[in-house]
Amino acid sequence: MKVSIVGGSLGGLTAACLLRDLGYDVSVYERSAVRLEQRGAGIGFLPATYRYLQSRAGVDLTKISVATSKIVYLDADSNVRYEAAHNYLFSSWNTVYASTLDHFGMQEYHLGSEMMDFSQTSESVTVNFKDGRNVTSDLLVAADGIGSSARSKLIPSCKSEYSGYVAWRGMVPESQLSAEMVERLGSAITYFVYPHSHILVYPIPDHDGRVTPGNRLINFVWYCNYAVGEEFNSLMTDKNGTLRDVSIPPGYVSESNIASMKAMAVANLPKLLSDLVLKTVEPFIQVVYDIDIDQMAFGRVCLIGDGAIVARPHAAAGTAKAAADGWALAEALEKYDSVPEALEVFQRSQLALAKNLLDRTRRVGAKSQFLNTWDPRDPEVIFGLHKPGE
Ligand SMILES: Cc1cc2nc3c(=O)[nH]c(=O)nc-3n(C[C@H](O)[C@H](O)[C@H](O)COP(=O)(O)OP(=O)(O)OC[C@H]3O[C@@H](n4cnc5c(N)ncnc54)[C@H](O)[C@@H]3O)c2cc1C
Repeated sequence: MKVSIVGGSLGGLTAACLLRDLGYDVSVYERSAVRLEQRGAGIGFLPATYRYLQSRAGVDLTKISVATSKIVYLDADSNVRYEAAHNYLFSSWNTVYASTLDHFGMQEYHLGSEMMDFSQTSESVTVNFKDGRNVTSDLLVAADGIGSSARSKLIPSCKSEYSGYVAWRGMVPESQLSAEMVERLGSAITYFVYPHSHILVYPIPDHDGRVTPGNRLINFVWYCNYAVGEEFNSLMTDKNGTLRDVSIPPGYVSESNIASMKAMAVANLPKLLSDLVLKTVEPFIQVVYDIDIDQMAFGRVCLIGDGAIVARPHAAAGTAKAAADGWALAEALEKYDSVPEALEVFQRSQLALAKNLLDRTRRVGAKSQFLNTWDPRDPEVIFGLHKPGE
């Protein structure tokens, strides 16, 4: 069985490792010409995301993640207004990617390979790449993320829906923070919720994957509303004048937007958190979208991870969903000889999982950004893929 996986991020790589473990001939095709680098993006590290690394790749989780044992909510004066014991693991996108790619290896990981189109018959599927190459295999797994061209081709009517807000993100090395900030922000996930917004802060590995206290980064994710039209467009016009739609990476946000964001931090956040935001050198922006579809299996082609459904980040479960899709796909393919039949079975469980996550994260986002009903005791605000806490 020959498998082509398009998209070499966490979803595509996890599926690649799992399908290779079944003895298939698996190749990953990634558009980027160089190894991927999502500089600094911290992630809540849920069991589905680390399941492969822990159970099959022998990775020691303590070497690639940071553990916190409490959830803290601050008041406007930086005092603790609510605290609960809760264990989370946090990592960074780069650290998890590096571990997974180390395990998969570079031999069948093809950089600079952008899929332009594909076509299938009842026997095979052929992918056409930008450089003119064509590759034929038994199965195409499209793990090509939020802007999936496979999704656009298979479901042309599908549109992304802007949630009404973006996430301002950034991180600061612990070495640049006061001892009090490291002590308070390095041992917990810390929230501040105020009308129409919330910010969360947690420790993550540094760019070299170091997890020892003193070497880590303190990461923030701050959800802020921007109206469609002039307000959104001005925010998303980068320092070179290019209007972007999904994200603006570190180093590309305009100086004036960084200055407005920092002024907004001083005006709205407790000092403990505004001090952190002010110290961020290259903040970046990710727009929060919903994408909903009703089909993930199309004969010999399937969509996984953000290439299928995109849910808001409030469950910290995007990479977990992508990895869980890989596990379900591998289980179905192991059980059924026919690829289309296996994909139908995979789709049944994974559509339900993704739609459930999408509904839940829409509700959670509405509570903080629009309804102002966020309550720290609400179980729904706990991270989790299948449900809060799991
Ligand atoms: C603000 C914010 C916070 C988040 N926090 C968390 C969190 O705490 N925990 C968590 O688990 N998730 C989090 N996420 C979500 C997470 O980042 C995504 O869900 C996850 O990266 C999806 O993985 P993926 O592999 O499906 O797609 P992606 O990571 O988007 O990867 C898609 C890949 O496909 C490649 N590609 C695209 N088109 C082509 C093509 N035509 N040919 C070849 N390659 C192509 C791209 O270059 C890319 O490498 C967050 C997201 C946001 C916006």
